[in-house]
Amino acid sequence: MDSVLNLLQVSGNAVVSLWIGIFVLTSLLAGAARISGYVRTMKIQQRPISWRLLRHELFWSACNVFCSTLVLTVLSNWLVQQGLLETNTAAAAWYVVAFEFLLFFFIFDLYFYLVHRALHVQPLFNWIHKTHHRSLNPRPLSYASMSPLEGISEGLIIPLFLTLFTVHETSTYFILPFASLMGLYVHCGYEFAPRWWYQVPATKWLITPMYHSQHHQYFTSNYGAFTTIWDRLFGTMRADFEQDFNRLKSRRANPATQEAS
Ligand SMILES: [Zn+2]
Ligand SMILES: [Zn+2]
Repeated sequence: MDSVLNLLQVSGNAVVSLWIGIFVLTSLLAGAARISGYVRTMKIQQRPISWRLLRHELFWSACNVFCSTLVLTVLSNWLVQQGLLETNTAAAAWYVVAFEFLLFFFIFDLYFYLVHRALHVQPLFNWIHKTHHRSLNPRPLSYASMSPLEGISEGLIIPLFLTLFTVHETSTYFILPFASLMGLYVHCGYEFAPRWWYQVPATKWLITPMYHSQHHQYFTSNYGAFTTIWDRLFGTMRADFEQDFNRLKSRRANPATQEAS
Protein backbone atom coordinates (compact mmCIF):
# COMPACT_ATOMS: atom_id res chain seq x y z
CA MET A 1 0.00 0.00 0.00
CA ASP A 2 2.82 2.38 0.93
CA SER A 3 4.47 1.79 -2.43
CA VAL A 4 1.25 2.84 -4.25
CA LEU A 5 0.95 6.00 -2.11
CA ASN A 6 4.60 6.74 -2.70
CA LEU A 7 4.15 6.22 -6.42
CA LEU A 8 1.18 8.62 -6.52
CA GLN A 9 3.18 11.27 -4.67
CA VAL A 10 6.28 10.84 -6.86
CA SER A 11 4.23 10.97 -10.07
CA GLY A 12 2.37 14.07 -8.82
CA ASN A 13 5.70 15.81 -8.22
CA ALA A 14 6.99 14.61 -11.58
CA VAL A 15 3.96 16.10 -13.39
CA VAL A 16 4.43 19.50 -11.71
CA SER A 17 8.20 19.47 -12.51
CA LEU A 18 7.45 18.44 -16.07
CA TRP A 19 4.92 21.23 -16.44
CA ILE A 20 7.44 23.82 -15.22
CA GLY A 21 10.16 22.31 -17.47
CA ILE A 22 8.03 22.40 -20.61
CA PHE A 23 6.75 25.88 -19.73
CA VAL A 24 10.36 27.14 -19.57
CA LEU A 25 11.26 25.25 -22.76
CA THR A 26 8.33 26.72 -24.70
CA SER A 27 9.12 30.21 -23.41
CA LEU A 28 12.63 29.73 -24.82
CA LEU A 29 11.08 28.51 -28.07
CA ALA A 30 8.86 31.61 -28.17
CA GLY A 31 12.00 33.71 -27.65
CA ALA A 32 13.74 31.81 -30.45
CA ALA A 33 10.71 32.41 -32.70
CA ARG A 34 11.24 36.15 -32.36
CA ILE A 35 14.69 35.87 -33.88
CA SER A 36 14.41 32.76 -36.06
CA GLY A 37 12.18 32.64 -39.13
CA TYR A 38 12.40 28.83 -39.14
CA VAL A 39 10.95 28.46 -35.60
CA ARG A 40 8.35 31.14 -36.42
CA THR A 41 6.99 28.99 -39.25
CA MET A 42 6.03 26.35 -36.66
CA LYS A 43 3.93 28.81 -34.63
CA ILE A 44 0.29 27.84 -35.11
CA GLN A 45 -1.48 31.12 -34.29
CA GLN A 46 0.04 34.59 -34.29
CA ARG A 47 -2.49 36.02 -31.79
CA PRO A 48 -0.49 37.74 -28.98
CA ILE A 49 -1.20 37.22 -25.29
CA SER A 50 -2.51 40.11 -23.19
CA TRP A 51 -1.48 40.73 -19.58
CA ARG A 52 -5.12 40.22 -18.61
CA LEU A 53 -5.19 36.74 -20.19
CA LEU A 54 -1.79 35.88 -18.66
CA ARG A 55 -3.15 36.78 -15.21
CA HIS A 56 -6.26 34.68 -15.91
CA GLU A 57 -4.14 31.67 -16.96
CA LEU A 58 -1.77 32.02 -13.99
CA PHE A 59 -4.63 32.28 -11.49
CA TRP A 60 -6.71 29.39 -12.85
CA SER A 61 -3.65 27.14 -13.42
CA ALA A 62 -2.56 27.58 -9.80
CA CYS A 63 -6.11 27.16 -8.51
CA ASN A 64 -6.77 24.07 -10.65
CA VAL A 65 -3.41 22.34 -10.02
CA PHE A 66 -3.82 22.84 -6.26
CA CYS A 67 -7.49 21.80 -5.98
CA SER A 68 -7.58 18.93 -8.45
CA THR A 69 -4.29 17.43 -7.19
CA LEU A 70 -5.64 17.63 -3.63
CA VAL A 71 -9.03 16.05 -4.44
CA LEU A 72 -7.63 13.33 -6.72
CA THR A 73 -4.83 12.47 -4.25
CA VAL A 74 -7.27 12.25 -1.32
CA LEU A 75 -9.58 10.07 -3.43
CA SER A 76 -6.69 7.85 -4.59
CA ASN A 77 -5.39 7.48 -1.02
CA TRP A 78 -8.87 6.51 0.15
CA LEU A 79 -9.18 3.93 -2.66
CA VAL A 80 -5.74 2.53 -1.72
CA GLN A 81 -6.65 2.35 1.98
CA GLN A 82 -9.91 0.54 1.16
CA GLY A 83 -7.86 -2.00 -0.81
CA LEU A 84 -9.70 -1.05 -4.02
CA LEU A 85 -6.76 0.56 -5.83
CA GLU A 86 -3.78 -1.74 -6.09
CA THR A 87 -0.87 -2.29 -8.43
CA ASN A 88 0.80 -5.55 -9.32
CA THR A 89 4.41 -5.32 -8.13
CA ALA A 90 5.55 -8.43 -10.03
CA ALA A 91 7.93 -8.02 -12.97
CA ALA A 92 6.07 -7.56 -16.27
CA ALA A 93 7.09 -8.39 -19.84
CA TRP A 94 7.29 -5.42 -22.23
CA TYR A 95 4.22 -6.55 -24.19
CA VAL A 96 2.16 -6.69 -20.96
CA VAL A 97 3.25 -3.13 -20.11
CA ALA A 98 2.43 -2.07 -23.68
CA PHE A 99 -1.01 -3.72 -23.49
CA GLU A 100 -1.85 -2.08 -20.14
CA PHE A 101 -0.69 1.30 -21.40
CA LEU A 102 -2.75 0.99 -24.60
CA LEU A 103 -5.81 -0.06 -22.57
CA PHE A 104 -5.45 3.15 -20.53
CA PHE A 105 -4.72 5.19 -23.67
CA PHE A 106 -7.97 4.23 -25.41
CA ILE A 107 -10.16 4.30 -22.27
CA PHE A 108 -8.86 7.77 -21.30
CA ASP A 109 -9.31 8.99 -24.88
CA LEU A 110 -12.97 7.91 -25.05
CA TYR A 111 -13.71 9.16 -21.51
CA PHE A 112 -12.14 12.56 -22.23
CA TYR A 113 -14.04 12.90 -25.51
CA LEU A 114 -17.40 12.22 -23.81
CA VAL A 115 -16.69 14.51 -20.81
CA HIS A 116 -15.39 17.24 -23.15
CA ARG A 117 -18.51 17.03 -25.35
CA ALA A 118 -20.70 17.23 -22.22
CA LEU A 119 -18.76 20.31 -21.02
CA HIS A 120 -19.69 22.08 -24.26
CA VAL A 121 -23.41 21.75 -23.45
CA GLN A 122 -25.02 24.69 -21.64
CA PRO A 123 -25.06 25.51 -18.77
CA LEU A 124 -21.95 23.35 -18.16
CA PHE A 125 -19.99 25.36 -20.72
CA ASN A 126 -20.63 28.70 -19.02
CA TRP A 127 -20.28 27.31 -15.50
CA ILE A 128 -17.15 25.18 -16.02
CA HIS A 129 -15.47 24.94 -19.42
CA LYS A 130 -15.57 28.63 -20.43
CA THR A 131 -12.56 29.28 -18.16
CA HIS A 132 -10.35 27.02 -20.32
CA HIS A 133 -11.71 28.52 -23.56
CA ARG A 134 -10.65 32.06 -22.61
CA SER A 135 -7.33 31.01 -24.23
CA LEU A 136 -8.05 31.30 -27.95
CA ASN A 137 -4.37 30.71 -28.77
CA PRO A 138 -3.20 27.92 -26.44
CA ARG A 139 0.25 27.91 -24.82
CA PRO A 140 1.62 25.54 -22.13
CA LEU A 141 0.11 27.65 -19.36
CA SER A 142 -3.33 27.24 -20.99
CA TYR A 143 -3.12 23.48 -20.43
CA ALA A 144 -3.89 23.70 -16.72
CA SER A 145 -5.86 26.95 -16.90
CA MET A 146 -9.33 25.62 -16.16
CA SER A 147 -11.95 25.38 -13.46
CA PRO A 148 -10.91 22.80 -10.81
CA LEU A 149 -14.28 21.12 -11.53
CA GLU A 150 -13.01 20.45 -15.06
CA GLY A 151 -9.59 19.28 -13.82
CA ILE A 152 -11.25 16.89 -11.36
CA SER A 153 -13.85 15.53 -13.80
CA GLU A 154 -11.25 14.89 -16.52
CA GLY A 155 -8.58 13.52 -14.14
CA LEU A 156 -11.04 11.24 -12.32
CA ILE A 157 -10.56 8.52 -14.93
CA ILE A 158 -6.98 7.86 -13.75
CA PRO A 159 -7.84 6.60 -10.21
CA LEU A 160 -10.98 4.95 -11.63
CA PHE A 161 -8.94 3.12 -14.27
CA LEU A 162 -6.37 1.98 -11.67
CA THR A 163 -9.25 0.77 -9.49
CA LEU A 164 -10.96 -1.13 -12.30
CA PHE A 165 -7.74 -2.67 -13.64
CA THR A 166 -4.90 -3.84 -11.40
CA VAL A 167 -2.02 -2.97 -13.71
CA HIS A 168 1.67 -3.62 -13.13
CA GLU A 169 3.66 -0.97 -11.27
CA THR A 170 5.95 -0.58 -14.31
CA SER A 171 2.91 0.35 -16.44
CA THR A 172 1.97 3.15 -14.03
CA TYR A 173 5.28 4.91 -14.79
CA PHE A 174 3.92 5.40 -18.32
CA ILE A 175 0.24 5.76 -17.46
CA LEU A 176 0.41 8.39 -14.68
CA PRO A 177 2.34 11.18 -16.44
CA PHE A 178 1.05 10.51 -19.98
CA ALA A 179 -2.15 12.60 -19.98
CA SER A 180 -0.28 15.62 -18.55
CA LEU A 181 2.57 15.19 -21.03
CA MET A 182 0.13 14.96 -23.94
CA GLY A 183 -1.88 17.92 -22.58
CA LEU A 184 1.25 20.08 -22.50
CA TYR A 185 2.24 18.95 -25.99
CA VAL A 186 -1.11 19.81 -27.61
CA HIS A 187 -1.17 23.23 -25.87
CA CYS A 188 2.43 24.15 -26.76
CA GLY A 189 1.39 26.53 -29.57
CA TYR A 190 3.87 25.13 -32.13
CA GLU A 191 3.33 22.42 -34.75
CA PHE A 192 6.25 20.00 -35.00
CA ALA A 193 4.60 17.14 -36.94
CA PRO A 194 5.77 16.61 -40.53
CA ARG A 195 3.60 17.49 -43.50
CA TRP A 196 2.55 13.85 -44.14
CA TRP A 197 1.26 13.30 -40.55
CA TYR A 198 -2.49 13.42 -41.38
CA GLN A 199 -2.10 11.52 -44.66
CA VAL A 200 -0.37 8.35 -43.41
CA PRO A 201 -2.68 5.70 -41.84
CA ALA A 202 -0.15 4.95 -39.06
CA THR A 203 -0.13 8.55 -37.75
CA LYS A 204 -3.30 10.32 -38.97
CA TRP A 205 -5.32 9.20 -35.92
CA LEU A 206 -2.87 10.74 -33.41
CA ILE A 207 -3.54 14.41 -32.67
CA THR A 208 -0.89 17.13 -32.81
CA PRO A 209 -0.83 20.70 -31.35
CA MET A 210 -2.63 22.29 -34.32
CA TYR A 211 -5.56 19.91 -33.91
CA HIS A 212 -6.25 21.11 -30.37
CA SER A 213 -5.32 24.70 -31.21
CA GLN A 214 -8.21 24.72 -33.69
CA HIS A 215 -10.52 23.51 -30.93
CA HIS A 216 -9.59 26.64 -28.95
CA GLN A 217 -9.99 28.77 -32.05
CA TYR A 218 -13.32 27.41 -33.36
CA PHE A 219 -14.86 25.79 -30.22
CA THR A 220 -17.23 23.24 -31.79
CA SER A 221 -14.87 20.70 -33.39
CA ASN A 222 -11.72 18.65 -32.62
CA TYR A 223 -12.69 17.52 -29.11
CA GLY A 224 -10.22 14.58 -28.90
CA ALA A 225 -7.46 14.27 -26.29
CA PHE A 226 -5.06 11.76 -27.85
CA THR A 227 -6.71 10.60 -31.06
CA THR A 228 -8.92 11.83 -33.88
CA ILE A 229 -10.90 8.55 -33.76
CA TRP A 230 -13.97 9.78 -31.84
CA ASP A 231 -14.12 13.08 -33.73
CA ARG A 232 -14.03 11.18 -37.03
CA LEU A 233 -16.62 8.67 -35.79
CA PHE A 234 -19.04 11.28 -34.41
CA GLY A 235 -18.46 13.79 -37.24
CA THR A 236 -16.91 16.50 -35.04
CA MET A 237 -13.53 16.80 -36.76
CA ARG A 238 -13.18 20.26 -38.35
CA ALA A 239 -13.85 19.91 -42.08
CA ASP A 240 -11.07 22.34 -43.06
CA PHE A 241 -8.54 21.02 -40.58
CA GLU A 242 -6.34 19.00 -42.97
CA GLN A 243 -6.36 21.86 -45.49
CA ASP A 244 -5.30 24.32 -42.76
CA PHE A 245 -2.61 21.89 -41.58
CA ASN A 246 -1.19 21.64 -45.11
CA ARG A 247 -1.24 25.45 -45.39
CA LEU A 248 0.74 25.76 -42.13
CA LYS A 249 3.23 23.16 -43.33
CA SER A 250 3.70 24.97 -46.64
CA ARG A 251 5.12 27.89 -44.60
CA ARG A 252 8.04 25.60 -43.78
CA ALA A 253 8.82 25.30 -47.46
CA ASN A 254 8.40 29.03 -47.99
CA PRO A 255 8.69 31.01 -44.72
CA ALA A 256 7.94 34.21 -46.61
CA THR A 257 4.30 33.08 -46.98
CA GLN A 258 3.59 33.42 -43.26
CA GLU A 259 0.14 34.54 -42.42
CA ALA A 260 -1.75 35.48 -39.29
CA SER A 261 -4.20 32.75 -38.36
ZN1 LIG B 1 -13.51 22.59 -25.22
ZN1 LIG C 1 -7.26 23.02 -24.34
